[in-house]
Amino acid sequence: MESHKSPIYNKVKQARLLAVFDFDHTLVDGNTDTWITKLHPCTMQLIREHQQYGWCWTNIMDKVFEVLHSEKFLKNDFVTCLESLKFTAGMKETCNYLQSNSVSTIIISDSNSYFIDHLLERDSLHCTFCSIYTNPAGWRSDGRLHVERFHEHECTVCPLNLCKRKVLQTHLADCAERYESIVYVGDGHGDLCPSLALKPGDYILARDGYKLLKYLKGEKGEEVKADVIPWSSGFEVLQFFQQLCE
Ligand SMILES: [Mg+2]
Ligand SMILES: [Zn+2]
Repeated sequence: MESHKSPIYNKVKQARLLAVFDFDHTLVDGNTDTWITKLHPCTMQLIREHQQYGWCWTNIMDKVFEVLHSEKFLKNDFVTCLESLKFTAGMKETCNYLQSNSVSTIIISDSNSYFIDHLLERDSLHCTFCSIYTNPAGWRSDGRLHVERFHEHECTVCPLNLCKRKVLQTHLADCAERYESIVYVGDGHGDLCPSLALKPGDYILARDGYKLLKYLKGEKGEEVKADVIPWSSGFEVLQFFQQLCE
């Protein structure tokens, strides 16, 4: 976002605005899945190997959790490991601003429900989101975390377990609200497919220095119809919403 001048956006009534957030490297300043490998660093090697075999990411993470369980890492160890994973500067303020202005806010993430619920609850942000779409995860009675694929889809560019465009379109079809504008905040490859489905009058807030912005400014530049706004800090995201909301 250019800070030397105040950009003029067409003001949108809060009730007609949908805010969509990615989680890893967007709301939090890191990747939850690779963060947890700090517990037992050889699991990072396991991830690389299984990626080479062509395994779906969700199944690789379930394998990682199996190994961590066999190495006697418990839920408390996960909690301790995640303590150092912080929300990106300004993102908590952004979530609280959106909640206090009654903007519908959702998460679509390829992380999992345990990591996301835990981190949102830890930082008292859970009630700022009306829906969270992610791979379902849960602790079994023997103390092992399990994760499953979110859904099946026909998209050829997204990972097998999750097409965020399909999630967004299903969410829009299911909710009674007819939104005037969608703001999508993300950083990664998985955010490209939903971003290209957005229309003029929507906004893509793409993190500077990350893949999504590179695609949107490069090879996918001709396909994008929404306004693309780079951000480095969550405070710029906050400022954008403050300027957009009536
Ligand atoms: Mg991300
Ligand atoms: Zn897709």
